[in-house]
Amino acid sequence: MGYIRDQVVVLKKMSIREWDRQYFLYGKEHGLLLAVARGAMKISAKQASQLEPFSFADVMIAKGRAYDHLAVAVRGKQSKRFFSVSAYAVAGAFSDLCLKLLKPGVADERIFKLWVELSGISSQIKAEISPLRAQLLFSAVSLRLLDLLGYGPFFKSCAMCGEAQGPTEVFYAPERNAVVCLDCRGEVSEALIRVPAHAMNLLQFLRSASLADVLRITAKVDLIETVVVMTREICKHAPLDREPHGFQSISKLVADS
Ligand SMILES: [Zn+2]
Repeated sequence: MGYIRDQVVVLKKMSIREWDRQYFLYGKEHGLLLAVARGAMKISAKQASQLEPFSFADVMIAKGRAYDHLAVAVRGKQSKRFFSVSAYAVAGAFSDLCLKLLKPGVADERIFKLWVELSGISSQIKAEISPLRAQLLFSAVSLRLLDLLGYGPFFKSCAMCGEAQGPTEVFYAPERNAVVCLDCRGEVSEALIRVPAHAMNLLQFLRSASLADVLRITAKVDLIETVVVMTREICKHAPLDREPHGFQSISKLVADS
């Protein structure tokens, strides 16, 4: 029987029978991993406590015929404690998005590092942030994931004339996942979404800045709202059967807390 060793972040855990747990993990070297901790081969309670969602662990997984078994789990040095509902809401929504978009057998260390970054910044949220700011953080981390997976939008130049787009008002063409300039908008048949220059700048900032910087942004509420709406549109370009629930659940969870 072969073994896999990896550093992982726990995306989700599910009870599948009274004593059995299924874990959805993202490994630094192996990408998405599914492993079962079975009753008979049950890992100790101490080990299981290392495997709460959004924690990190060093694991050993035994490859099985039907499914893979989680054999060993040790708390990873990247594990951080969360103190706020905001942190859990954002991480939970992002984990769900990851599980919808990631496939086993495709590994990208940058996605693992994105989780390290999200976990680090989330652990620093000691007082609840506003629902809108939590959505902004979710938007930033989602855009970064979409970019890594090749579903990110193309904003550098007009999709029609190829003219480089500076900090000016542009129009987002959802079907192309790209922008068209003011001059070309009349030539496009699909419905376009107007994006003010400030919103475009903020969107580009979300894609390139650290999550710590995203949390520090000061911007008008309507500008942040526009950027969140744009991110929802951009997510439609990814192969999802429905919209990531984070855009609704985060506001609700944070507002109720
Ligand atoms: Zn153009």
